[in-house]
Amino acid sequence: MTGLLRRLATQAVEPARRERRTERCELCAEPLPAVHRHLLELAGRELRCACRACQVLFDHAAAGGGHYRLVPERRWRLSGFRLDEGAWARLRAPVRTVFLIHDSDTGDPVLYYPSPAGAVQAPADRSAWELLRRDNPVLRQLEPDVEALLVDSEAWMVPVDDCYALVGAIRAHWRGLTGGKDVREHITRFFTDLGGRSVTVPAAGSDRSPA
Ligand SMILES: [Zn+2]
Ligand SMILES: [Zn+2]
Repeated sequence: MTGLLRRLATQAVEPARRERRTERCELCAEPLPAVHRHLLELAGRELRCACRACQVLFDHAAAGGGHYRLVPERRWRLSGFRLDEGAWARLRAPVRTVFLIHDSDTGDPVLYYPSPAGAVQAPADRSAWELLRRDNPVLRQLEPDVEALLVDSEAWMVPVDDCYALVGAIRAHWRGLTGGKDVREHITRFFTDLGGRSVTVPAAGSDRSPA
């Protein structure tokens, strides 16, 4: 589990303590508001909380071969997403909720799923990914490394930090063998909140991106 994941999980368990502690930019130590953006450190696949100045500075540096990428803010609910049973079987997803990230380093898709112990990573079948991209052309707009295809009862294109927040909530609220009522409520709340912040985009894709 990454440092950020661990923190997200801890924050979910200890809201009282979180209120008292001010988060700081992990690049320059500037105090941060509760809602802030993240930079992905490519080498370790670690998310860093970032202030506005560092977002600009380090994201631009990335163009010159830097180590950080700014995690985007767009959230798309994909309408008409096509995931037939064959593609799902080839993905070998062990649970219903998974997210896929396109790794720019290897060119391969990587499958993650939340577990009571955090995010579990599994290599994803490249042909299944190709099939998904063919059936859902919107996926060609997925930014490598920093955006994820999140599949639950619906499909979404989200910033990777959203996925980590979901994993953190599941980890913090999972009880017993099956998770329990509390964790199900947190998952429902996550997707309700995500729906409220998302725009709906046809999975068939279009040249025009929504604002
Ligand atoms: Zn900073
Ligand atoms: Zn943060």
